[in-house]
Amino acid sequence: MGLLTIGAFAKASRLSPKALRLYDELGLLPPARVDPTTGYRLYAPEQLERARLVAWLRRLGMPLARIQEVCELAAPAAAREVRAFWAEVEADTAARRDLATFLIDHLSWKDPTMSPTTKPMGIRYAALSDAGLVRESNQDTAYAGSRLLAVADGFGTGGAPASAAAINVLKRLETDTIPAGNLLNVLQDTIEQANQAVHDIAVSGPARQEVGTTLTAMLWTGSQLALVHVGDSRAYLLRDGEFFQITHDHTLVQSMVDDGRLSPDEATSHPQRSLLIRALAAGTEVTADMRLHDAHPGDRYLLCSDGLSTVVPGEEVHRVISTIADPDQAVRALIALANSSGGPDNISCVVADVLELQQ
Ligand code: MN
Repeated sequence: MGLLTIGAFAKASRLSPKALRLYDELGLLPPARVDPTTGYRLYAPEQLERARLVAWLRRLGMPLARIQEVCELAAPAAAREVRAFWAEVEADTAARRDLATFLIDHLSWKDPTMSPTTKPMGIRYAALSDAGLVRESNQDTAYAGSRLLAVADGFGTGGAPASAAAINVLKRLETDTIPAGNLLNVLQDTIEQANQAVHDIAVSGPARQEVGTTLTAMLWTGSQLALVHVGDSRAYLLRDGEFFQITHDHTLVQSMVDDGRLSPDEATSHPQRSLLIRALAAGTEVTADMRLHDAHPGDRYLLCSDGLSTVVPGEEVHRVISTIADPDQAVRALIALANSSGGPDNISCVVADVLELQQ
């Protein structure tokens, strides 16, 4: 078969002549021949396959530079690249969905004191942190107060001051009155200040790049809990007997599980399972997950560092959380469980119960 005109090739590939001229200029899909007298572009029928792939990848929303990379790959590698691209799109959509949920919750928030049917609620809480049995020092920090629950897992030289500094910055939220419409901004500002505090510790010490901390915290507003989360510490919710993790680990292995490159089982024994892809750390911009949770009387929250979650099986944690009523005793029992499994890492736990206040 002879060469096709740009019009015929456009029709067959479902790309417009305008797009074909652009892809030629970018080197993505150069014509087989350009007529030297007329300047018309001519395409070979064998180019149709590549052109159709470009058209489908465009429909997927893939940027042109990335399409070019995919087109250079053999089919199995191209498939992996499309899968990785799609995982990124879904992660981005999930982050935006969380933000949308936060805004919807926030905008539909009603002052509980205005509603005669809602009794005022409060929280009962306990926090405990332990070095474990192997580490020489404790770089975790755990905190629980009447408005703030937080765990931070510091790493690197200066990890302990980093986790303490991050939580200290958050403690400002306990005394400030936050106008309802401002909650999201205040949380964002606070997390940036916490990141700055960690950065200041890093630059004042010798091991500048190695200092950082995770941060998982909840702020009690009187009817809701606002969650901020960066890293691989976790928050769980026990509601109506069901126990589930409400945070997503910002680790390399979790992103590989999300991409389908690793099974959850393989992730638990992966040598790099603690490698973080997000943290409060020197010289980095911080992106925290943020969410609002409506409080129900009877809800119980658990915040913990990976010294609990990677050492004690989820069913064991669930059993303790659902059988030991007193928060103080519950955090002690959880730390004892981690230590009875060897206590290889620092362990931090915060347990908080949502209660109807007696009037
Ligand atoms: Mn840890």
